[in-house]
Amino acid sequence: MNPGQKMFHDFVVERVQPGTQPQAEAILADCFKAQDDGTFTVEQLDTAIAQLGQMVRPECQDEFHRASGHMRGQMSHHAAERPHADTTLQFCQSCGLPFDAQHEDMRANEADGTKSPYCTDCYKDGQFLQPDATVEDMIEVGVPHLAVKIGEDEARKQLTAFVPTLDRWK
Ligand SMILES: [Zn+2]
Repeated sequence: MNPGQKMFHDFVVERVQPGTQPQAEAILADCFKAQDDGTFTVEQLDTAIAQLGQMVRPECQDEFHRASGHMRGQMSHHAAERPHADTTLQFCQSCGLPFDAQHEDMRANEADGTKSPYCTDCYKDGQFLQPDATVEDMIEVGVPHLAVKIGEDEARKQLTAFVPTLDRWK
């Protein structure tokens, strides 16, 4: 546990109803582990807050919701910042492949030879290679690639939020 985690842990454990400490500690341990692994999401935090909220003593509810609200605000702030970390980074507007240094040569051409906003897996000479693909298909194509870095569940969650925002699916 880092100092911030320890503080929130102690804060919660002191305020839950007698007998629910072990349950509360288990929920907190899951959250902290996800935080340490870099897989913690605002959704997971919301679930944890809802579960812990049921264990917190009535007279401590206000205090608990202030503290957890603060934590949530901090976290969604960081989460919202992440995609903009590199403002020059562009993504294939069909599958979400990042055109970073490793993938820059995967940018497909339009029929007239100019660069398209799509990658060579999705597009060739002005046409989609799979014109009937759905946004759901495209999410599943991306999952194994991103899963290597962040695990399958988190990859699917992020792509489900991201891919539908790309130009092809708007
Ligand atoms: Zn693509």
